[in-house]
Amino acid sequence: MMDKEKIKKAVLTAESCSDYSDDYEEELCDDENISCLNCRYRRWIKGGFECVKGKYSDE
Ligand code: SF4
Repeated sequence: MMDKEKIKKAVLTAESCSDYSDDYEEELCDDENISCLNCRYRRWIKGGFECVKGKYSDE
């Protein structure tokens, strides 16, 4: 489970990211519409996630 600060950063990052794109509906995991957590370029890794566009990592 991610802490609130990481979730907030994921929202702020996605809101200013020109590459954000909704993931498949079954992959959405945050109530915020725009968040790295809901982006098709987010990949889960041990301890968090990373962006395969290379723009964000919560590690
Ligand atoms: S996961 Fe990557 S591409 Fe998607 S919104 Fe976040 S920084 Fe942008």
